[in-house]
Amino acid sequence: MPYVFDFDHSHRRPPMEMKDLLGGKGANLAEMSSVLDLPVPPGFTISTDACRAYMEHGWPDNLGAEVARARVRLERAMGKEIGDPADPLLVSVRSGGKFSMPGMMDTVLNLGLNDQSVEGLAKQTDDERFAFDSYRRFVAMYGRIVLGIPGEEFDALFDAAKELAGTTSDAKVPTELLRYLVDSYQQIVERRSGAPFPQDPADQLRGAIEAVFSSWNGPRAVAYREREHIPHTLGTAVNVQAMVFGNRDDRSGTGVGFTRDPATGAQGIYGDFLVNAQGEDVVAGIRNTEPLSALRRTFPAVYRELMGVFERLERHYRDMCDTEFTIEQGKLWMLQTRVGKRTGRAALKMAVDMTKEPKIRLSRAEAVSRITEDHLSAVLHPQFAGKGHDVIAKGLAASPGAAVGRAYFSADDAQAAAGRGEHVVLVRNETSPEDVHGMLAADGVLTARGGLVSHAAVVARGWGKPAVVGAEALRITRHSVVAGGVTLSEGDWVSIDGSTGEVVAGKVELTAAAPPAEFDVVLGWADEIRKGELGVRANADTGEDAANARRLGAEGIGLCRTEHMFLGEERLPVVRKMILADGEEEEREALEHLREVQREDFVAILDAMDGLPVTVRLLDPPLHEFLPSTEELAIKEATSGLSDEERKLYDAAKSWQEANPMLGTRGVRLGMIKPGLYAMQVRALMEAARERVAAGGHPVVEIMIPLTVSREELALARRWVEEAIAEVAADEASSTNGRRTPARRGRGSSNGAGIDVKIGTMIETPRAALRAGEIAEFADFFSFGTNDLTQMTFGFSRDDVEGRMMSVYLDKGLLSRNPFETVDVDGVGELVRDATSRGREAREDLKVGVCGEHGGDPASILFFYDAGLDYVSCSPYRVPVARLAAAQAVIAAGSGETPKRRARRTAAASAPIGTARGARQRAVSKAPGARKTAASSRSSSTPARSKKAAKAPGSGRQLGASRSVKAVRRGPGAANGTRGKRR
Ligand code: PEP
Ligand code: MG
Repeated sequence: MPYVFDFDHSHRRPPMEMKDLLGGKGANLAEMSSVLDLPVPPGFTISTDACRAYMEHGWPDNLGAEVARARVRLERAMGKEIGDPADPLLVSVRSGGKFSMPGMMDTVLNLGLNDQSVEGLAKQTDDERFAFDSYRRFVAMYGRIVLGIPGEEFDALFDAAKELAGTTSDAKVPTELLRYLVDSYQQIVERRSGAPFPQDPADQLRGAIEAVFSSWNGPRAVAYREREHIPHTLGTAVNVQAMVFGNRDDRSGTGVGFTRDPATGAQGIYGDFLVNAQGEDVVAGIRNTEPLSALRRTFPAVYRELMGVFERLERHYRDMCDTEFTIEQGKLWMLQTRVGKRTGRAALKMAVDMTKEPKIRLSRAEAVSRITEDHLSAVLHPQFAGKGHDVIAKGLAASPGAAVGRAYFSADDAQAAAGRGEHVVLVRNETSPEDVHGMLAADGVLTARGGLVSHAAVVARGWGKPAVVGAEALRITRHSVVAGGVTLSEGDWVSIDGSTGEVVAGKVELTAAAPPAEFDVVLGWADEIRKGELGVRANADTGEDAANARRLGAEGIGLCRTEHMFLGEERLPVVRKMILADGEEEEREALEHLREVQREDFVAILDAMDGLPVTVRLLDPPLHEFLPSTEELAIKEATSGLSDEERKLYDAAKSWQEANPMLGTRGVRLGMIKPGLYAMQVRALMEAARERVAAGGHPVVEIMIPLTVSREELALARRWVEEAIAEVAADEASSTNGRRTPARRGRGSSNGAGIDVKIGTMIETPRAALRAGEIAEFADFFSFGTNDLTQMTFGFSRDDVEGRMMSVYLDKGLLSRNPFETVDVDGVGELVRDATSRGREAREDLKVGVCGEHGGDPASILFFYDAGLDYVSCSPYRVPVARLAAAQAVIAAGSGETPKRRARRTAAASAPIGTARGARQRAVSKAPGARKTAASSRSSSTPARSKKAAKAPGSGRQLGASRSVKAVRRGPGAANGTRGKRR
């Protein structure tokens, strides 16, 4: 395979589909030259293969010869030679990777000039100033980019020349001074590089090509690729193109043009143009440009030709194109085109408009595919207006949208300031539930520590509040913060952008968040595409959030973190009281209090999600998030002393303190050591559901046990849940004098007084994933808690790793993505796939979802769909993004067997744990009495477990499931008796 392709090379495939090889710019230049036959200055592309070979082994053997031959062809096409002393051809050498990386790599212009050819150019153009200005630019550019000489050395001389000439304008530096500058620049080159400035165009060309290859690994390019998740291995192509000059005279000019307005999406041309200027002048903004429409007056023939080109480009690319063009002495040249970048608003409008335009005929699937997560974020959340803000620190983009407010450093101060009507940004080292009132009051949250699944990130995201977390450069004290050499005191303005992680001192202007009408149209199409394939639910913990999630298109709640119901200042003590209770009486009181407040919350959530499933997770508070800080209390003890209440709290907090709270008393483990806790929550939930039924509602309840690691654990927890359901049903029966509400029966549904109830578990540990087959025997559904699953699979602390280590891991290429942001397909993903198929093998109708933060990440959603999951669940404001990404995943999978069907088929066909398990199950199914056990564990109020599950040895006896069912059947007294025994 050759390394070098002329722009008009006749490729077997459309060049625009060959961006891997030719890079984006090269592919589009080839498309314009070889397919569309547009007026493109000739040139050639050195492929990304060559760059990759160069990065691995240095300059490839035959590249030099190929470039030399391509150069000869180019010179023939132009009728001029590079370096010709009489009439030189000049070329540009530009980078061009597969994905656009604007301004991140290097370009060398005016290549081919030397001490002789500059005179030839002066004669040919009859413009000595132009020739020497071009040469000056070339020497400086070459020195900087190819030879690595600091640009300031050239700039300082140029500034001095301007001063000498008494002007501030580059264009007014006279020719003699330009000649002098060329000389001086060459001296700098010789002094700094130890060799004279290369005069041979072949040497110049090779130097420039190598410099562009090397710029692929320059710090700017690497940082950009990291942000955009572009693989570092792709390499860049290099485009060598004959130069044309828009600055020859007043019959020349240059401009950029879009085939539609990239800001609004409105039809009609859009762009800027300058007479007698070079491309950089338009971009640099040193001269006031004219609108493209002005061309009609100044260059009518060119204008007509350009409009024809635009028309052809849109028809050909079936999209809005962005172009650069030059007019050289009345002749139009197209320098480049690409499918243009656009704002979110414009993207939505264009996508919808183009489905209606006969010349484009976009399908709905194509329209959906053209919208990105960024487009949706841009219309859903305010953003920083403009660019180039003075960023004092950068953190993780934890919750999208921008916020501007006065900095406050404690939740109380933030709340007080918001109460005075101020806009507030709460700045903390990290947050905990004690800060929630301040977070609630603030416009945005900024922390110095913590990762994407830290408390601050998860809570802010849930509320749709902008947040930047883990901005390590911040040095925060009680009343100020220092970063980037700037000190912000309490009350000073600060701006944060939760979509980019940027922190700026002062007030930055924001764009408004206003989804256009096309937003709902496109998402409606996305819903049609993903219907029956991948559901989208929301993680929401209040009625308000649930209503918001439904408005944004959620099809239920996939995770209601019940501990979040206790985040408020007044409610935190309720959970604390329960955790710290001393003795049965105190504990019972605390539980009763919890039940009352939770009941109201559940009513609100079930109401907001009426008719849709609501997955309520029983308490899973990592205790450290809910206990007072022992450090702070220790300080208080040593200084002002503690009240009796505080002393009690302090003693209790010390006794509950754990070295690894994330691996400690949380999830179902808390349920195990706090008997009655889960039963109380289920009672509250079922009472709420009953209230909704009485009000004519249709609650669909799913109860989820967190952090289980074994069948036994889940079976026990399930038993408590079933008993509590039965108690509520029995209460209902006795209060209606035995007239029971008819049960809604269905596969996998427990009877909760006529209410559909499913009982399932989260899969959050590698053990749970590995033992998913047996866990599924007691689960109607699985929901992957990929935050914890990632934490436990990697052994990375989800609260700490992003601050300290993650950037090092990403920089060194040890990880390609932050696994807390995008699911680690090879490790965590493998567990997800395995657990799904093990679970479904045990229980065909097992519903499987994900509710970790990955449920709102498009790349992860693509994976979850492929793994055959039924739904994803994410924070309410991510729901639109998840709807879009789910549809895009379906589109990407193409027609044929859907991943869900494939996953179910594979699960049905195989026993992934291996022969031992298969053998055990076969043995079990043959065991005497197996049928009987299975039958006895089936009832109207027991989940319809798979045959294998039901036939497992002692599935009733050992784990108590059938006992609980019997207890339920026997009525309230019996159920209480069972509960009593357990206690
Ligand atoms: C998870 O671990 O992914 C999860 C959803 O639970 P939490 O974040 O509340 O631990
Ligand atoms: Mg979890």
